[in-house]
Amino acid sequence: MKHKNKLSIKWKFFTYLMLFTMIILIMLWLSQVVFLETIYKSIKINEIKTSAKNIAKHIDDENIKEYADMIGEQNELCIIALKMENINRGLELVSVDKLNNCLLHNTDRRSKFFLYDLAVANDGEYIQNYRYDQMRLGFIESDGQQSGEFESIIYTLVFQNNIDEEIFLMVNSVISPVAATVRTLYYQLIVISISVIILAVILTIFFSNRISKPIRKINDSAKILATGSYNVDFKASGYKEVSELAETLNYAADELSKTDQMKTDLIANISHDLRTPLTMIVGYSELMRDIPGENIPENIQTIIDEAKRLTSLVNDVLDISKLQSGVGDFISKPVNITETIKKALLRYNKLTEQDGYTIDFEYAYDVTVNTDETRIMQALYNLINNAVTYTGADKRVTVAQTVKNGCVRISVTDTGEGIEADKLPLIWERYYKVDKIHKRASIGSGLGLSIVKSIMDMAGGNCGVESKIGWGSTFWIELPLRK
Ligand code: ADP
Repeated sequence: MKHKNKLSIKWKFFTYLMLFTMIILIMLWLSQVVFLETIYKSIKINEIKTSAKNIAKHIDDENIKEYADMIGEQNELCIIALKMENINRGLELVSVDKLNNCLLHNTDRRSKFFLYDLAVANDGEYIQNYRYDQMRLGFIESDGQQSGEFESIIYTLVFQNNIDEEIFLMVNSVISPVAATVRTLYYQLIVISISVIILAVILTIFFSNRISKPIRKINDSAKILATGSYNVDFKASGYKEVSELAETLNYAADELSKTDQMKTDLIANISHDLRTPLTMIVGYSELMRDIPGENIPENIQTIIDEAKRLTSLVNDVLDISKLQSGVGDFISKPVNITETIKKALLRYNKLTEQDGYTIDFEYAYDVTVNTDETRIMQALYNLINNAVTYTGADKRVTVAQTVKNGCVRISVTDTGEGIEADKLPLIWERYYKVDKIHKRASIGSGLGLSIVKSIMDMAGGNCGVESKIGWGSTFWIELPLRK
């Protein structure tokens, strides 16, 4: 567990919030202080061009004079439009004067025609910049690059009207210096920046506390859980994710405590189960050693039976740990499952012959599936063993193979006491045994069904149970048919 290079949530939050604040502030500074003049100029020039183009569009209208007047008023422009009769004579169509220092109405005819020539030479469109000269108390031509001064712009457009007459349009506008505005904004932004940074710090402290406090609380409880006390209660409020986490952890703690309880029970059972056969084996062996005439096959059989019981108990424990740790391989091959069931049932021959059990097998035809035969056989044994153990006095067990919806279902039915409905979901859990009171007859480990479930999960199949108190139970497994 390395936490050294990790920032706490508080600092993370602070960093992100600061980053966000900085980006916004930088954007504000750039747009309001650094580039304000450039942005303002380009907006203004755009405005002039749009106005000129709108007038050009309406040049043939009857009320073009009023229209130009309105545009000039709105955008503080001076506008003159001439219908060109020859290279240096024009008839005035429009004349609007809405500027204090209009250049158009103060220039002579020659300068106007000079502008006309420039526009024609530049594909019919030209912009001329002027700046205010303090010495001459008037505007002089400029390249438009200087800043902080009064500037005047004349935009000229030469175009054809609907009846192919040439029109020369001039629009003049003044750009006032923004230096004073920039200075005001500069001081405003300093105040805003400082306040925003302070606000970000306060917000960080407030929110990071609200976010991290429940997590810290859960972490403390989890540490208690880690020491093995499963009765911790994960409590967390505040927001959804954290209460979900608390809920999940409560569930996990609950499950852990259940498993722990079951393991304790199992160890108690297993030690009992181990001790009983061992006592029997030792007892019978000593009997046979010490008393002549006791060396009879029945006694030896008892020793063998008890030893087998031990083996199967140990095997169950090994199987489940192998299956659940995923160590065991599952090798799928085409398998005639009907033959597999028959093979499995052969193992119960002795049981049926000697102890009077009847095991029927019902099926219609042979079925092939893709699966691991050994594993399926293991699942079948577990189900049949349970059925034999729990079946009723008639000692009858029925195995049936049915085919439905592209699946083969193998069910094992007994005539025993059945299982209570509320216990049904629990019996598939590891170490679970319905009967806590130890019965000699049912010397199970509580692992059989969870082995079945693990195998069916690996096989991509299903398993389940139906049971009726007093009538018996039907356990089934299902596998998809081979395509
Ligand atoms: P066990 O090894 O104890 O049989 P299982 O996992 O196979 O463990 O079964 C869990 C519990 O389910 C058993 O202890 C038993 O109480 C119940 N059970 C399993 N099969 C049957 C059955 N055919 N009839 C009644 N109860 C059953």
